[in-house]
Amino acid sequence: MRFPYLATLGAAAVLAVAALPAQGETTISGAKTHAELAAIEDAVPVLEAWIDHFGTYPRVETVRPRIVLVPAGKMAAISAGTAHHGPATRGAYDAETATIYLQRPWFADRVYDRSILLHELVHHRQTHARHWYCDQAMEWDAYKLQETFLDQAGIEAGIFWLAIALESSCAVRDHHPD
Ligand SMILES: [Zn+2]
Repeated sequence: MRFPYLATLGAAAVLAVAALPAQGETTISGAKTHAELAAIEDAVPVLEAWIDHFGTYPRVETVRPRIVLVPAGKMAAISAGTAHHGPATRGAYDAETATIYLQRPWFADRVYDRSILLHELVHHRQTHARHWYCDQAMEWDAYKLQETFLDQAGIEAGIFWLAIALESSCAVRDHHPD
């Protein structure tokens, strides 16, 4: 009686642990204040809902992105190490570790800052949605969604589309429009 009961409990515990990474919340590190941490925690579900509505890439149910806030001085090195270079290099997405890097300070009340996080969340979905000939091919759609997001707030995105088109064609490497 006793052993099967314990074994069942043990199996349940293992299942619960195994299920954690898939269903876990987005983890955020590098925040300097609780307000900063809370701002990002609040922003992610709102931005995800926006992408559901205006984008075409489905939510990633298996892997939640990690979000890491980094000071400006470290951002350049991180951008150089990841295939993707975000808008004005204030954001980056590392597909291998599903990590979004955001340059500090990041302000929830600045639409442009929110649009950077949105852009990187789009990359997280794109990476899991299909195969890409090069990582840069994801940029066109990511910038288009970012532009729509900014446009809705009455902000001119100022995106240099010719450069994005070239980058997205996979023909040009190491070209990073700012
Ligand atoms: Zn990008």
